[in-house]
Amino acid sequence: MEVVVIGGGPAGRSAAMEASKLEANVTLIEKDKVGGKCLHKGCMVVCGLNEVAKFYLDSQNYQKMGISNAIPEINFREVTSKLRETTGKIMKVLEYETKSIGANIVKGDAQIQKGSVLVNQEEIPYDKLIIGTGSRAMTPPVKGTDNALTYDNIPFLDSLPEKLLIVGSGVMAAEFANIFSSFGSEVRIFCRTKFLKMLDPEIKDYIIKNLLPNVEIAEGARVDEISNDGLKISQETIEGQVLLATGLTPNSELAQNIVKIGDCKEILVNSHMQTSKPHIYAAGDVIGGVTNTPISRMEGVTAARNACGISSTMDYSWTPQSISLYYDVSFLSPQYHQTGTVATIPGSAGPGSFWRVLEGKTGLSKVSVDLDEGLITGVSSIAPSSRTNMAYLAKMIRDGYKAPEFDDFIEVHPSTDAVYKLLRFFGEYSN
Ligand SMILES: Cc1cc2nc3c(=O)[nH]c(=O)nc-3n(C[C@H](O)[C@H](O)[C@H](O)COP(=O)(O)OP(=O)(O)OC[C@H]3O[C@@H](n4cnc5c(N)ncnc54)[C@H](O)[C@@H]3O)c2cc1C
Repeated sequence: MEVVVIGGGPAGRSAAMEASKLEANVTLIEKDKVGGKCLHKGCMVVCGLNEVAKFYLDSQNYQKMGISNAIPEINFREVTSKLRETTGKIMKVLEYETKSIGANIVKGDAQIQKGSVLVNQEEIPYDKLIIGTGSRAMTPPVKGTDNALTYDNIPFLDSLPEKLLIVGSGVMAAEFANIFSSFGSEVRIFCRTKFLKMLDPEIKDYIIKNLLPNVEIAEGARVDEISNDGLKISQETIEGQVLLATGLTPNSELAQNIVKIGDCKEILVNSHMQTSKPHIYAAGDVIGGVTNTPISRMEGVTAARNACGISSTMDYSWTPQSISLYYDVSFLSPQYHQTGTVATIPGSAGPGSFWRVLEGKTGLSKVSVDLDEGLITGVSSIAPSSRTNMAYLAKMIRDGYKAPEFDDFIEVHPSTDAVYKLLRFFGEYSN
């Protein structure tokens, strides 16, 4: 069977590899770089910059404590240059991995035709098509947005903006605010509605006070105009470099008039990732919903399995999510402490938090449990280890684990995970 996959990001690459494993003849078409936004513009860029930002903050902390006598100077041009070199190397690994499983990679801009895909003036026929074309920075309807940076520009910055004005209220706004304020830029965030509104309020408060202490956050702020040296809001002109972090728009144009598209430009699919045309599937950011890499990958795998005749559905329950700040802020969606009894606990001292104990900044974990049933109804955790722990916890909750079953949980020590302590505590009081 001929399977053509458009897009070499997390969704498309996972789909191509899964379909190859299932013995389809796979052609993966990528117009830019294998690895997609995740590797070259998103997750890994934030990861790389955040590592340096943490090192810089730690150096300042060690100097303040008298442990060391110098704060290193950061060469930002080298940071972004080495960042691109690193993502380039990872890309080669991904290409090698994809090809070695059996998928053929074609570089070019794909267009969909009936029964074939046109790329570099060549028609590639398909039995099944999987669209994984991802998304791009959303541009709000505000005058002058061309003057603003988006996440696309960050890997190519060669100097730090002195003043950064971030327009947006979600994860991306928080992550870039943390990075640039840690490096010393003066950062302000302008949120049209509420900042990080998907989070538990206590977790959000902790972030604002302890993880973004030098960032000014304006909620309910409607930006009227953007220029190359600032923005206008309620008649006031504010100077600085503007960065848009206003969300993502699906790259669905190539499928217009071919499959059904929703109001937010997302390709509409069923739980098998099948579009309105039975032989065309779509996965990843292009279908909207939760736009992150693990979900995109799993959607890609699901699309490939169904395309190859193996029935498979996506399960979005208890999706682990994380925000990369000085500590990782992790939570399970879509439920946040909606029901049950709630308890919070400060973070533990351990790797990544030990030298913050004297300041009282070790993070915070929060769990809610329905004591009648022992059901875990919500988990949020701010801790260096929370990103990894949360994924395993999500799987355990999905598989039916309840609070009393953590009675014999054996942690590793030292660890900054405090969630297991709360679960053990709740276990004692649950039925
Ligand atoms: C700043 C930022 C930080 C992020 N951080 C995280 C994080 O920490 N963790 C996380 O899980 N997620 C994060 N994300 C989200 C994550 O990057 C995306 O959810 C993920 O990349 C989506 O994968 P995808 O394959 O659907 O799309 P993409 O990664 O966008 O890949 C789509 C690919 O399709 C190609 N393409 C498009 N049209 C065509 C065409 N016509 N022909 C050929 N090729 C085409 C593109 O060139 C691209 O390579 C972040 C996003 C951003 C913007």
